[in-house]
Amino acid sequence: MVRAIERRIRVLKSDPPRQDGDCVLYWMQHSQRAFANPAFERAAYWANECALPLRVLFVVDPDYPDASERHFYFMLEGLKETMAETAKRGAHFSLRIGKPAETVARLARSAAVLVTDRAYLRHLVEWRKEVAETVDILVEEVEGDVIVPVDEPTDKMESAARTIRPRLHKALKNFLDLPGEVTLKVNAKGLGHEDDQSLDDIGAFIDRIGCDTSVGRVTFFRGGTSEARSRLTHFLRQDLPHYGDDRADIVDRHVSHLSPYLHFGQISPLEIYHKVMDSKAKGESQDSFVEEMLVRRELGVNFVHHNRRYDSFDALPDWAKKTLAEHAGDTRAPSYTAKQLEDGKTEDPYWNAAMREMRVTGYLHNHLRMYWGKRILGWMRSPKTAYETTLALNNKYFLDGRDANSYANVAWIFGMHDRGWPEREVYGKVRTMTPSGLKRKFDIDAYVRWAEAL
Ligand SMILES: Cc1cc2nc3c(=O)[nH]c(=O)nc-3n(C[C@H](O)[C@H](O)[C@H](O)COP(=O)(O)OP(=O)(O)OC[C@H]3O[C@@H](n4cnc5c(N)ncnc54)[C@H](O)[C@@H]3O)c2cc1C
Repeated sequence: MVRAIERRIRVLKSDPPRQDGDCVLYWMQHSQRAFANPAFERAAYWANECALPLRVLFVVDPDYPDASERHFYFMLEGLKETMAETAKRGAHFSLRIGKPAETVARLARSAAVLVTDRAYLRHLVEWRKEVAETVDILVEEVEGDVIVPVDEPTDKMESAARTIRPRLHKALKNFLDLPGEVTLKVNAKGLGHEDDQSLDDIGAFIDRIGCDTSVGRVTFFRGGTSEARSRLTHFLRQDLPHYGDDRADIVDRHVSHLSPYLHFGQISPLEIYHKVMDSKAKGESQDSFVEEMLVRRELGVNFVHHNRRYDSFDALPDWAKKTLAEHAGDTRAPSYTAKQLEDGKTEDPYWNAAMREMRVTGYLHNHLRMYWGKRILGWMRSPKTAYETTLALNNKYFLDGRDANSYANVAWIFGMHDRGWPEREVYGKVRTMTPSGLKRKFDIDAYVRWAEAL
């Protein structure tokens, strides 16, 4: 392992490897891929060190917070591919259904070493803590879903992109190495178990786990590393050259559509970074993409890592809460309920089209997400209700919902990581966005026609 990879590793439990272990266990949770995954490579390294086979374990929790068939289906498509690629590498993939921390602890009883990947949301951090407290072997956690490990650029919550940007760029040079692929020495053929689940029929698996089916699967995105990589190739060729000037264009979308793949760890952000930097599209397009995928995305990770109330209205900065409270009594005209919003029944055809797109496809362009959220703030009877409704719809419909980015960006609608603007009705000093802005900048009627035809 090269040093840059080692700087991604944290020891969660420093007990020695178990002498009579029958495998090394990689609990795959956040980095759901067999390539460019430093946690996978670290586990493979330990398997070779201990002369043991490698078991890769993924535990599907049917009660995962806010997860529906939409999220499960996309995730399982990705896992099906990862399962096959894991087998090609000579490791065994155990897919189990259950409570993650409990299941991992049970399987770790016969393992020599446990390696996992790093995650940042509260319940994911708790799962790892619980596992480390329960098991009595070496436990390592490896951080592979950010370019710069979260504790490296800063040890506090940054207030804005402008404050974290120079720190991330300074740290970046130390974290540019992709992990080398470790060849496994011991084959894992003997590790199969009757509890291991098959993904031959994803629909049947979904029926078996009995998850929430109120939001169905989407056909606009197919999960998996190879699909992520082919979207990346398409983006580099067709869209990256326009990213600098035209990334905000909601009609001619020169964006990558990679956020669902990043959310499920089906592709490495570092792999994307290198492909973008090696591409022919130099200058502003590269810089703008790095601004979004490094600075904005990792600002979101910094936010949830340092602010344990990241999913609450209370997490907003004081100036934003104060100005919103001062305007809480302003008349909202029109005003809508959460149900009217979810059904896309407002007087704003642009907004309804955006709500329709997200219900049908599980995705929205960034500029539309901003507009979508800002209008909710303007329409609901209180800023707190507006915050809760925005977050709930975000996480219910977006494939990339329930991400660090979900919490940071919904909070941005309400003033987080932003500054005060000239004071207005309802919004106070929080930034607004208007339909006239959309009409001026884009062929928004073409967008509405497109969304209505979905
Ligand atoms: C109200 C609101 C809600 C949002 N909810 C989510 C969410 O639930 N999950 C989510 O992943 N993103 C969310 N975003 C951020 C952003 O809109 C999406 O990441 C982006 O639109 C994804 O599309 P893309 O992959 O085509 O982006 P591209 O423009 O191709 O960008 C590449 C990558 O950079 C990152 N990125 C791009 N824009 C931003 C941004 N503004 N902030 C942080 N990272 C960014 C994403 O990881 C993205 O995949 C939200 C933004 C707003 C304003």
